[in-house]
Amino acid sequence: MPDSEALLRVEHLSKFFPVKKHRLFEEQSYVHAVEDVSFSVNAGETLGIVGESGSGKSTLARTILALTPSTSGDVYYQGEKITDFKVGHAEQKRLRSQMQMIFQDPYASLNPKLKIGDAISEPMLANGQASSRAEAEKKTRELLEVVGLRPEVFDRYPHEFSGGQRQRIGIVRALAVNPKLMFCDESVSALDVSVQAQVLNLFNSLKNEFNLTYVFIGHDLSVVRYISDRILVMYLGKVMEITGYDQLFSEKTHPYTQALVSAIPEPSTAPRKNRIILEGDIPSAVNPPKGCRFCQRCFKAMPECSEVEPEMREVEPGHFVRCHLYDPKEANER
Ligand code: SF4
Repeated sequence: MPDSEALLRVEHLSKFFPVKKHRLFEEQSYVHAVEDVSFSVNAGETLGIVGESGSGKSTLARTILALTPSTSGDVYYQGEKITDFKVGHAEQKRLRSQMQMIFQDPYASLNPKLKIGDAISEPMLANGQASSRAEAEKKTRELLEVVGLRPEVFDRYPHEFSGGQRQRIGIVRALAVNPKLMFCDESVSALDVSVQAQVLNLFNSLKNEFNLTYVFIGHDLSVVRYISDRILVMYLGKVMEITGYDQLFSEKTHPYTQALVSAIPEPSTAPRKNRIILEGDIPSAVNPPKGCRFCQRCFKAMPECSEVEPEMREVEPGHFVRCHLYDPKEANER
């Protein structure tokens, strides 16, 4: 599955968080936030990562970007293993500046006392994208125009902007250091639907203009599929499926993906016929279910599902699914 020519390659990446002990000799337990995740992203594509809240999507992005240290596994960027670098290593700094993250709430990442223009031009100067303050200011004003903001907003403060405008400022801040790969973590989730569409269209036009590659993270498949070439489905810290946009409606999709697809709104007043309602909540990541992680909520679960963990299998070219339904051996026995 991982591609050696990919811009980003993630191999068996795991992130466990220790749970606070309440008794002296209590055995240490861990939140299995991300477990044994492997995938790759090719230059110029948009990989969507989708799953309910608590599935590990954001932790995965933060672990790839070393915003939180990994427990095990490796990350390769342009073929170079970046998990080997020590914190502060110059090469690590250079490569990391090519990977930027846009957060759900850009307001939280903006200093309320700093003018927007300064918040954008200072990282530009620090990363060597501009040789003087005047050049940084000129580039900042140009970038503000690119995302549809007037250059005069340079001198305004974060509280003077709406949610959609702040998200555009977050995008400019990421673009300021000339990235190649952008992680958009629930970047449009907090916006009104009409503003969501504008920002998604902006992401698409910037992709072409700046030769960007995106990892687009969200909980709403109808939004994620709009922008993605391929989609990775996560559940309880594990990858359940990696599929092309066109294969999302294939008969061979994972039951969890089928439930997500069935929840995509349709432009019709007629009642939905095939909506799959999942029972219960996502289980605790401290004691994930034995066997298939999805077995407690799966509407197609079989006896073996709660005993044996399914492996990831290629069910169609480029379409990988982790489910016993597509295990040829199990299928023969059924
Ligand atoms: Fe459902 Fe079993 Fe497939 Fe898991 S392995 S998704 S429980 S059918």
